Amino acid sequence: MHLSRFPRIRLAHLPTPLEPLPRLSKELGVEVWIKRDDATGMSTGGNKTRKLEFLMAEALDQGADMVMTQGATQTNHGRQTAAYAAKLGIACHILLEDRTGYDNANYNHNGNVLLDHLHGATTEKFPGGHDMPAEMERAAERMRAEGRNVYVIPGGGSNPTGALGYVNCAFELVSQANDAGLTIDRVVHATGSSGTQAGLVTGLCAMNSGIPVLGIGTRAPREKQEQMVFDLAGRTADRIGCSGAVKRSDVVANTDYVGEGYGIPTKSGIEAIRMFAELEGILLDPCYSAKGAAGLIDLARKGEFRDQRVVFLHTGGAAALGGYDFAFDHADRWVHI
Ligand SMILES: *Cc1c(COP(=O)(O)O)cnc(C)c1O
Repeated sequence: MHLSRFPRIRLAHLPTPLEPLPRLSKELGVEVWIKRDDATGMSTGGNKTRKLEFLMAEALDQGADMVMTQGATQTNHGRQTAAYAAKLGIACHILLEDRTGYDNANYNHNGNVLLDHLHGATTEKFPGGHDMPAEMERAAERMRAEGRNVYVIPGGGSNPTGALGYVNCAFELVSQANDAGLTIDRVVHATGSSGTQAGLVTGLCAMNSGIPVLGIGTRAPREKQEQMVFDLAGRTADRIGCSGAVKRSDVVANTDYVGEGYGIPTKSGIEAIRMFAELEGILLDPCYSAKGAAGLIDLARKGEFRDQRVVFLHTGGAAALGGYDFAFDHADRWVHI
């Protein structure tokens, strides 16, 4: 397979660093490395930037003058799409679904919402549980009637085109490990709309790398999450000419760390945020990367990774922290002398 056959706009800062996390590793008794996909460059970075390299190229090939996408209020995907659209000089419209019901002002206006607007995107709000893909089609028709050429990007950029970004990440990661003489026993990351894990697993299987991936769920129950990833991995493998490369058993998710629901911070996630921030100077977000890290931390404590070298794929999201300040009690950090 030959990724340069696919149209791509190279705006991500790649390769992202692959670094050891010595203080966290010591704390957990497991050797943990980090793949810094929070540092992909576009508007504070994140995993959607890799997908957008391929999605935005397809949009421009189709002559789009507007991209449209959807997500939760604090969508990182929407923010990275808005930044990409700004850079390419096309319009961006984002449909936001209120999945948490928070009436908190920062949650609704700060963090990613502020950044969406700074990049010039327009946003529209919908109640939770709405049929967002259908709503997006309606909104696209409305814009087309006004003469716009709209390219619709599914939530999270998760389709075979977007997943190519993570096939590319799989190649990049293995090549970094090979160059450094480093063996990787496991990759762990937060999984949501499924494109990240689908692309990663497809790339790693297509290379016959023998590196297993563990997705830590942030929304759906295990069976549904794994099926979503497997379906998209199958379509992604077809796309790159490796049909059948991914077996059902290659797709593994653990959904024990979702907590009350999508976008709702958990105690273990908050602990993970504090550990990464205080031990390694790295920022996670409560919705995704903190839950992924909470899974990594808990499973490490339970001995799941004994004698393994684990790579935590940091998918980004810290731009949402300003929308989640209510989740942190940090009054004890003020000192009065
Ligand atoms: C979107 C997102 C994920 C999940 O990636 P999917 O490809 O949607 O599964 C993980 N972490 C962060 C920070 C995200 O924004």
